[in-house]
Amino acid sequence: MSAFTLIRNAWIISNDDQIGDLRRGSLLIRNGEIVQIAEDIEQPEGCDVIEADGFLAIPGFVDAHKHLWQAALRGICGDMTLLGYFETIRQNYIASYRPEDVRVGNYACALELLNSGSTSVLDHSHCIITPDHADAVVEATLDAGIRGVWAYGYCPVWESDAFRKQEDRIADAYRIRQRYFASDDNLLRMGVAITEQQLLPFEYTEMEVRSALDMNVKWTAHTHCGNGAAPISRGIYKLYAKDLVNELAILSHCNEFTFNDFVMMNEVGAHFASSPDSEIYMGITKPVNFIEAIAAGTPVSLGTDTVSCMSADMFANMRLTLNFARHQINAPAAAGFQAVLHQKVSVRDVFRMATINGARALGIDHLVGSLVPGKRADILLIEAGQPNLAPMTDPIASLVLQGQVSNVDTVLVDGKIKKRHGKLVGVDLQKLNRELSASHAYLQANTHVEERDLAHEVDRWSDRLTEAAVDA
Ligand SMILES: [Zn+2]
Repeated sequence: MSAFTLIRNAWIISNDDQIGDLRRGSLLIRNGEIVQIAEDIEQPEGCDVIEADGFLAIPGFVDAHKHLWQAALRGICGDMTLLGYFETIRQNYIASYRPEDVRVGNYACALELLNSGSTSVLDHSHCIITPDHADAVVEATLDAGIRGVWAYGYCPVWESDAFRKQEDRIADAYRIRQRYFASDDNLLRMGVAITEQQLLPFEYTEMEVRSALDMNVKWTAHTHCGNGAAPISRGIYKLYAKDLVNELAILSHCNEFTFNDFVMMNEVGAHFASSPDSEIYMGITKPVNFIEAIAAGTPVSLGTDTVSCMSADMFANMRLTLNFARHQINAPAAAGFQAVLHQKVSVRDVFRMATINGARALGIDHLVGSLVPGKRADILLIEAGQPNLAPMTDPIASLVLQGQVSNVDTVLVDGKIKKRHGKLVGVDLQKLNRELSASHAYLQANTHVEERDLAHEVDRWSDRLTEAAVDA
């Protein structure tokens, strides 16, 4: 393989204000780095060429909130609420997971992301029952060749023989950091995913966050996204009051945040990731929180959350985001029979949420999120002549309003081709599907899903959480 790759004659959507869009241009890559974007580029000797006439070249998507380990459980959550998901997946199935299950789950979901055009991800990896699970899940994610942050989840199951106390989990995170993520120069970087606040006394939450700050890595938290009266995952103010929330924080969901909460988080540089698909699906307290975030000037990034319930389709999530944001903003006018004269959220705003905003949240916007010389070559080629996209007049509008995963013809990560002509490259899908099916069969056979009265469970959780809050 040559050190050079030339993508020639594409419609380039740089996502960068200075470079803008080139109706017909070329993009030169050297050793994974974008070195030139211009209308005409002289082809270096021995250069690999990708002829892209009739294709858009756009930056890869960045999925800022995902739990990759659940791929073998795809489709089993058809009619679950958040509470049902919590009981079934996070209480019952998770206890059956072996290292090989998280391995195949993470690998399969990483491929789903790459196939869908997400070249970077934040993996909120909360199925680490033993150190072997941690090794397996990291190795699988590295094998897949996806970029992003792999966040060590401190809360896999409530009791674990391998980790007698929370300090043991934190010590294991340091081991993983040392073993796989000693350098930040790799595609995948270390992160931390803290236990949902109020499931543990606050001193443990503080300890978990301090481990991330000590390692100087990103940390993420399900934040203020309870179900009904259960006060799960609230408590960010306590961390804020102790100066523990800064630019390393990626707060997911934040459905109960007010305008002032977003302003407060902006002041310390914390990041916000919404997963509209799951927030609406799961009946989280107040599904999706765009108006307050947008009004506060908070950059919104997007995630696709669980594999068991959601797809990794960023096109669908951009569309949902746009439509739901517009619905929220326009609903008061519509209810008062007033005409809506302007849209306050544009298709380009949403495209940025799915790309550069996510890259900023993950701390990798100096590398990806836009097509700029000096950045790494995470690039999608979108076939513009497909029936759902032609004629191509405003590419961003077409991608956000009509784009589909089937339009993603080619995916490059760090200049390496991961998908070409609509097919993943270097992947034995038949073998993977056999392993996924075997994992699914094992988990089904070994998991006892307790039939519970969920109304009773709400009371049980509320009592437990209230106790924890009092402990704090
Ligand atoms: Zn989540």
